[in-house]
Amino acid sequence: QVPLKPGRSLMDWIRLTRSGKDLTGLKGGLIEVTEDELSKHNKKEDCWICIRGFVYNVTPYMEYHPGGEDELMKAAGTDGTDLFDQVHRWVNYESMLKECLVGRMAVKAITAPKANVLMTLLFAGVLPEKKVLASSRDLSPSIYFFSLLYFLFYSFDWFQTESLITIVIYTKQKDMNAELVIVDCQDKQLRGEIIIDDHSYLVEVDLDHAVSEDVAVNIAEQVGKVEIILNKKDNIHWKTLGQPLEGHNTFIKRTDRGLFYRKCKLVSKTEVTHDTKLFCLMLPKGTHLCVPTGQHVYLKQIIAGTEVVKPYTPVLPFLPLDFQEPPRQDGVHIYLMIKIYSHGLFTQALDHLQIGDNISVSNPEGNFKKSQVQTSEDLLLLAGGTGFTPMVKLLNFALTEVSCLRMVKLIFFNKTEDDILWRNQLEQLALKDERFEVQFILSQPSKDWVGKQGKISSSLLSEFVKRSRRDSKVLICICGPAPFTEQGIQYLKDLGYSQEEIHAFTA
Ligand code: FAD
Ligand code: NAP
Repeated sequence: QVPLKPGRSLMDWIRLTRSGKDLTGLKGGLIEVTEDELSKHNKKEDCWICIRGFVYNVTPYMEYHPGGEDELMKAAGTDGTDLFDQVHRWVNYESMLKECLVGRMAVKAITAPKANVLMTLLFAGVLPEKKVLASSRDLSPSIYFFSLLYFLFYSFDWFQTESLITIVIYTKQKDMNAELVIVDCQDKQLRGEIIIDDHSYLVEVDLDHAVSEDVAVNIAEQVGKVEIILNKKDNIHWKTLGQPLEGHNTFIKRTDRGLFYRKCKLVSKTEVTHDTKLFCLMLPKGTHLCVPTGQHVYLKQIIAGTEVVKPYTPVLPFLPLDFQEPPRQDGVHIYLMIKIYSHGLFTQALDHLQIGDNISVSNPEGNFKKSQVQTSEDLLLLAGGTGFTPMVKLLNFALTEVSCLRMVKLIFFNKTEDDILWRNQLEQLALKDERFEVQFILSQPSKDWVGKQGKISSSLLSEFVKRSRRDSKVLICICGPAPFTEQGIQYLKDLGYSQEEIHAFTA
């Protein structure tokens, strides 16, 4: 992120897009853009970028881009889809850049295999005819390829009783668990996503008949069998499961799937500090979703007519002090600890939500793997401000489920004492569990502060980041403002820690 000039915030951009000013330079018309034409618009003062087949004139947006003009220029005059997906595929550019739309790329014709050919190939002799979902649509070549790939490894089936519909997915994954299965069933639309490393398999169907809101998910972890159980609204016999929707029966990279959102209800909002609140959101009844440790979700709100999306990392409602058994997520609530910025576009809107209001919450994302902790003896957590949020579940996971850990230390950087999140809970945890230690460091302390002070630095880190034994296996996790994280990583490397020993939480 780069500092933006005054008057160049997201809100200012939204205002400009609503001003009626011609932002494409085409006076309202849309054109078909050839590759040759696109490549000519490659200068700051005349910059077009193609994202997923649509071409935008991003020149007016240059000064508003949070990543800076140079980042945007990397895709000038070209297809920037891959670059966009790498950096912020969660940003709704269609909404943000709608007034900059120049037109569509002129596409070269590609012949896609016909669905009926695909269906014949996929299902021949395998699923009984009554279970085959008819489709009249063409499928793209990549979907075709991955469907075939899926077919080699996965299969699904369904059956019914008088009152239930059961969809069974055989994943052939030995370590299947609840975090890897995301189900949403609303208004006859069923979407079941199974995560398999960086790919996912999707069942997405417009159901034949209505079902009640309750959905159950059973997982046979050892054999990798997943059952999605729906309750029929009327006890009638279904002839088919339903009509396939766009992503049905595909096995593709997770990053190639659009983010899926469901509406959650705000059930409570409690103060954590003077500017930070704990928001409790309730998932709809037809949703099965557990956010894995170290992952975040995206919240989406319409602000002044534009869809705005920001990432947040779910926490626990409190830090459990009794580590007898691993706390289970209740599968119903998502807790978010969010700092409300006085000039923050998204957090101000969030703070104005009333209890009972809805907000859209995405599927989880993030590249943290629990296995990184499971093999460590020392876990060191460096947090700056709300960079504490990923540490909450991580701390809990480490202290309850990782038996080889000898030392867990949180080094928590804040501006003032009043900014420290869950200070009491952390101090109590340190008293309760001798493996855990917490160190608070303030960058702008009052004169009464007797603890450590300073900003993240090589000398502070060399004082607090140490292995419990000379050859201990260590994992250092870091999260906070981007410059804090970047500097922290550099200092850690200077102190001799390797890249594999450091995990940074970023978007
Ligand atoms: P903006 O409108 O973007 O900014 C307005 C002003 O607020 C800025 O000028 C600046 O003064 C201040 N400000 C805004 N953002 C920041 C910032 N990031 N750092 C310092 N000052 C800032 N935040 C949480 O509170 N809880 C979380 O659990 C959480 N999880 C995150 C997970 C990920 C992966 C990432 C990348 C970020 C996370 N954030 C979290 C930050 C969050 O996504 C937003 O950036 C933040 O809520 C500010 O949004 P805004 O629209 O209100 O502010
Ligand atoms: P803050 O209160 O502004 O700062 C927390 C601490 O970090 C303070 O001690 C502060 O010191 C220090 N700090 C801030 N900027 C710094 C810099 N440039 N160099 C060195 N130290 C710096 O933080 P916040 O407002 O809570 O923001 C938290 C950040 O964490 C946000 O940027 C958010 O996006 C990020 N976050 C990321 C994730 C993720 O998963 N990636 C999750 C949650 C939060 P001084 O300001 O006094 O210098």
